[in-house]
Amino acid sequence: MLKIVTLFLAFMAVLAMFGRLRLPGTKRGKDLPKPRLCKTCGRYNLRGGPCPHCTEGQG
Ligand SMILES: [Zn+2]
Repeated sequence: MLKIVTLFLAFMAVLAMFGRLRLPGTKRGKDLPKPRLCKTCGRYNLRGGPCPHCTEGQG
């Protein structure tokens, strides 16, 4: 039984190491744009482009 636990811990450690190795390469800040408030409707525009609330219905 102890072997299984040890293997599981080792597996988790390897996963953590891979996760840490990947993180420095890609900054999380760039993936998600900063939430901006639409000047027209005042709602959050997460995409950063044209406001989906304002453009909605206008085609
Ligand atoms: Zn808007």
